[in-house]
Amino acid sequence: MKTTNQNIKPLTTKRNEKGNLTIGGCDLTELAQKYSTPLYVMDKETLVSIAREYKDAFKSYPKFKPKFASKALMTSAIAKIMADEGFGFDVVSGGEIYTIHNAGISLENSTFNGNNKSREELELAIALDIGRVSVDNFYELELLDSILKEKNKTQKVMLRVTPGIECHTHEYIQTGHLDSKFGFDLTQLDSVVELILNKYTNVEIMGLHAHVGSQIFETKVWVDEVEVLVKEIKRIKDKFGIELQEINIGGGLGITYTECDTPPSTYEIAEKILKSLNESIKKYNIKEPVLYIEPGRSMVGTAGVSLYTLGSSKQVPNGRKYIAVNGGMADNVRPSMYGALYTAEIANKKDTNIKEKVTIAGKFCESGDILIKEIELEKPEKGDILCVYNTGAYGYSMASNYNLMLKPAMVLVNNSQSAIIVNRQTYEQLVQNDKIADI
Ligand SMILES: *Cc1c(COP(=O)(O)O)cnc(C)c1O
Repeated sequence: MKTTNQNIKPLTTKRNEKGNLTIGGCDLTELAQKYSTPLYVMDKETLVSIAREYKDAFKSYPKFKPKFASKALMTSAIAKIMADEGFGFDVVSGGEIYTIHNAGISLENSTFNGNNKSREELELAIALDIGRVSVDNFYELELLDSILKEKNKTQKVMLRVTPGIECHTHEYIQTGHLDSKFGFDLTQLDSVVELILNKYTNVEIMGLHAHVGSQIFETKVWVDEVEVLVKEIKRIKDKFGIELQEINIGGGLGITYTECDTPPSTYEIAEKILKSLNESIKKYNIKEPVLYIEPGRSMVGTAGVSLYTLGSSKQVPNGRKYIAVNGGMADNVRPSMYGALYTAEIANKKDTNIKEKVTIAGKFCESGDILIKEIELEKPEKGDILCVYNTGAYGYSMASNYNLMLKPAMVLVNNSQSAIIVNRQTYEQLVQNDKIADI
């Protein structure tokens, strides 16, 4: 069975009788008119189905606890949908913590992660009773314990480790290999445990946390990761007489940006991960730990599309034809940052198979601002609405105000209804923090 992450388009994508693309029963051309472009559109049905697939795929393991990696896309509405599906959150900043809290969601099922958490961020997390802090380094351990002693509180923590596993993905999104900025090296673990037991006594170790990378297609990296973590639990048990009860194996499941991407299904990874976990539990003779996963990209990527309006075009003599959209690298930095590939279609035209090969350019002042290098589109003309698929993850969350362009609005669609979940920025908001200095 194909799972959500193995689709390029949101699950509800169709063409209506006019030949227009629809998602969640909403005509994208009408959404573009009503809310203007660029516009992020999120399909609720697709969001809910991937969340339920994860829960279903891991249901044979009662101590399974999923979290959503907020950095892929965090808005109040998205937080609410994830929490309603029973997901906790992996958070990496005061801003993400504040957004979840402000949406009326408890942070008890959240883990605060990151390689340089500030004192203010840790204080906020502690004040809001965050479930876990994933301690990344010695500096943080000392800082965390000093805040806790000041406030006379204790905090349950995970220890972030680099398990020494390489995965084949873009260098910038690999995190589990040894030479990484994230987490403790396994050779440092013993001294961390010792410090927590003897010195940093307001910190309570619950388990180990790792994350091996992103947009991963090989299941073996999680299989190996699980074994490494369980083996470390056993080693710590033998040496210190304490048995850690939790492992967090991070996120990283890949999605299908183009036909060339072939990620495994959620069921396939669950089967391999659970097999490895159950075997390792037997082999190392430890209690069944709580198993946390924290997918980000695969939770929101497929559910989202970006709508743009086509504008100017340029035919290079004997070369490419460029067509520009009214957005680009500030609303989707992935093509210019990682060379990421995307698929797109014209939303307002029937498929007649009169295709033209073009390059989709953004409107930002960088030659590298090319959204799609080469794509065949249905007679693309100015005024057409371009639907770029799979922009739900790391699109809005990495958006900037480069060139002082306004950040686009975001709309949720479901059952032929649409609702704004993020307003389009305004010019007033752009300058609201500006001050003219009189010095
Ligand atoms: C980025 C990240 C995730 C989510 O990764 P995806 O590839 O988006 O699933 C999960 N855990 C940690 C620690 C991360 O840094």
